[in-house]
Amino acid sequence: RMSRDILSKFADGHKVFSVEFFPPKTEEGARQILRTAHALKAHEPDFVSITYGAGGSSRERTIEYGELLRDLFGFEVMPHLTCVGHSRDELTSILERFQESDFHNIMTLRGDPPKGQTSFEPHPDGLRYASDLVAFIKERFPNFCLGVGGYPEKHPEAMDMDTDLANLQTKVNAGADFITTQLFFNNADYFTFVERCRGLGIEVPILPGVMPAMSFDQVNRFCGFCGARVPRELAAKLECVKDDPEASEAVGVEWALQQIRGLLDRGAPGVHLYIMNRSGAAIALMEKLRAAKV
Ligand code: FAD
Repeated sequence: RMSRDILSKFADGHKVFSVEFFPPKTEEGARQILRTAHALKAHEPDFVSITYGAGGSSRERTIEYGELLRDLFGFEVMPHLTCVGHSRDELTSILERFQESDFHNIMTLRGDPPKGQTSFEPHPDGLRYASDLVAFIKERFPNFCLGVGGYPEKHPEAMDMDTDLANLQTKVNAGADFITTQLFFNNADYFTFVERCRGLGIEVPILPGVMPAMSFDQVNRFCGFCGARVPRELAAKLECVKDDPEASEAVGVEWALQQIRGLLDRGAPGVHLYIMNRSGAAIALMEKLRAAKV
């Protein structure tokens, strides 16, 4: 395997640190992502990932900003890709572009239904599940290293945890190289999830995803959508500082810091940070982690 593969970064017990960006839509957003990337550079993340939108021009920006993050800052960049709205031919041409752009890793997803639709409808000549996309890529572009999503608190659409885990197993059997989890606030959910995966024979690295909460409203909105539970203690702390953005961010960073320490102490292979392009929280967190030498 080539050393630019994210999978190889997990070797020898190295703790993998990664950060997720999304492609900005506005000029202010563009300045923000560059500011954040610049500030993060000193902290040398093992890789950064960049999300894939539900449609339209934001998809072009995944490649555009992926290249920018790589060329300006030297990051190993992992673009995301989803099945939403794409025929197989379109997927092939996007994958060719990823290859031409010299990306080595792809976060391989089904994707959420576009705004206004309640359930996922595959393109008539497209793919239905992330596992189909994994198989599709492995067959045609076997050199890509593929990450997939995992859900410690169950994917919202899945009937129950057993079904969801069986589907995750299918995705890994199709060729996924590692799993990044959906965000969660309670470490016990992650460790139970890992244990159950291992019990099923899923052996790939499972990188926990952590989001420093931004505010009481943001966290409730976000978690309603992705199905993560907000612990009462965190909700109460955020509610106390509801009208103070800086204090809210500090609460979020402190919680994330405790979470990360707990995760690494108990053997998690690293952490993937959902920073929503914000430099403040990411840098505060990185500095505290460094000071704590975790
Ligand atoms: P799948 O693995 O396909 O699972 C979707 C549902 O189908 C689950 O309920 C699963 O249990 C079920 N299922 C799977 N296989 C089968 C089967 N064979 N038969 C029956 N049921 C099955 N969204 C974006 O739009 N863009 C992004 O960039 C993005 N990045 C993400 C990054 C991470 C790390 C994570 C965890 C999620 C991300 N998402 C992103 C959100 C993701 O697209 C949604 O959670 C989506 O609803 C499911 O995607 P998936 O790849 O997990 O789907």
